[in-house]
Amino acid sequence: MSRSSHLSCTLLAIALAATLAPARSEAQFTYDPAGDLVAGSGSGRADSMVYAPDMRFPIRDAPAFANSQVWGVGGSSGPSGSQCDGRNFSYPWHDNYCETRTWDMPLCPSGTGHQGQDIRASDCMAEMHPVIAVVSGTITNVGSYSVYLTAADGTRYDYLHMRPVLVTSGERVSQGDVIGYVANEFGGTATTVHLHFNIRQNVTGVGSVYVPPYMSLVRAYERLVGGSSGPRFAATYVHQSFPLSSEPFELAPGTVVDGYLELRNTGSETWRPGETFLGTTEPRDGASAIAGPDWISPSRAATIDRVVAPGATGRFNFSVRAPSAVGSYDQFFNVVEEGVAWFGDDGGPPDRWIELLITVVPGTDADGDGVAVSAGDCDDGDASVHPGATDRCGDGIDQDCSGADLPCDVDAAVTARPDAWSPSTDPSDAGSSVPVDAPDPRMSWRGGGASGCGCRVGSAPAPRVLWLALAAIGLGLVVSRRRHHRG
Ligand SMILES: [Zn+2]
Repeated sequence: MSRSSHLSCTLLAIALAATLAPARSEAQFTYDPAGDLVAGSGSGRADSMVYAPDMRFPIRDAPAFANSQVWGVGGSSGPSGSQCDGRNFSYPWHDNYCETRTWDMPLCPSGTGHQGQDIRASDCMAEMHPVIAVVSGTITNVGSYSVYLTAADGTRYDYLHMRPVLVTSGERVSQGDVIGYVANEFGGTATTVHLHFNIRQNVTGVGSVYVPPYMSLVRAYERLVGGSSGPRFAATYVHQSFPLSSEPFELAPGTVVDGYLELRNTGSETWRPGETFLGTTEPRDGASAIAGPDWISPSRAATIDRVVAPGATGRFNFSVRAPSAVGSYDQFFNVVEEGVAWFGDDGGPPDRWIELLITVVPGTDADGDGVAVSAGDCDDGDASVHPGATDRCGDGIDQDCSGADLPCDVDAAVTARPDAWSPSTDPSDAGSSVPVDAPDPRMSWRGGGASGCGCRVGSAPAPRVLWLALAAIGLGLVVSRRRHHRG
């Protein structure tokens, strides 16, 4: 058929379509899982692998509907009705790879089955809907109802039932070129108007076989209906344990800090340990000055810690080591699919986005107590304060840098309120001049005498014990007086 006569066919078909076409679905694209065949149509293969990640969807325009012909409405084993029934032109999609057939199919649970996926265009009209080359390659066969397109990597894509076919055997085509139209060509006998699509690849240990095309079609279709080709490799920030670059991250020379960066996979490709890495950027692959001892190489901080499907999150666990020279060290990172792509060249983030900014500070020890600030001295102006020092309870000073002053009682309620331990007068008895260097009686009073100093170490000086004893007596007076008032 010449191009001009095809055009007039098309114009006629458009006129017919206006009355015959089922209502187009405006619904959001949905699909049933790989391997879920129509009940009674055989055993599917639950295989979510995308065997052809770079291919385009074979029917040029959306919507299109992957589903069963034989078990669909109007099919020989399906509900009675017309092939043009709207139920055949609606989401969700259904896998029909491995649907009951007699063909040998090593990857199908039963060993036989349907070799590919049947796809309807937006309506049931033949010769209306352009079919395109899903990848660039060579047309390796044009049969009575089949066209093979073979890519440089050896993958073969089979298109069945097109009419007219616009390519010839041996012809080079580019991805997106129109190669024919959806029709019902079947070597003289009729089939339904649809495109049957196969992917044939060499599978290790099996040989050259028809692989499940369903998820490759899903991904390609998602890119089609997304309006543009969505990125294969993309990540967004979720969380990190290291300080953000906007916050101080000061380390003494040689200090090693463990941490992680958590990202979400917003591309279409699954991340895998050993394939997806956190690499240095600005410049890419530069040897990092802050590489920790666990880095894979000076330019690879870590690989992803788990298999991360699109939409899921994963972590890069790695350490950084402060260089020996004082100063600021700015290191940028990006995710890299090793040997395939930097994320900055596909869906992002940009290379100057994931950043660790480390400031190396001298290991100072101004008070000469033998412990530098960087090593945990919480008061570098007081030689009696440093990790390892003896903490005197109740003096409001955290001598041992534990994070809080040592309480003078083990009472849990009081321990939770260290402020109740500072010397004060009983606020409920403001007129009294009796000092109460003891727990707030409302919290710790146990009805008997005061328990005295609960210090863990016997370092409280004797006058202090005396002072506390006086305080206990004072407390007794206070409580006793209240009892009188209540009476
Ligand atoms: Zn088919």
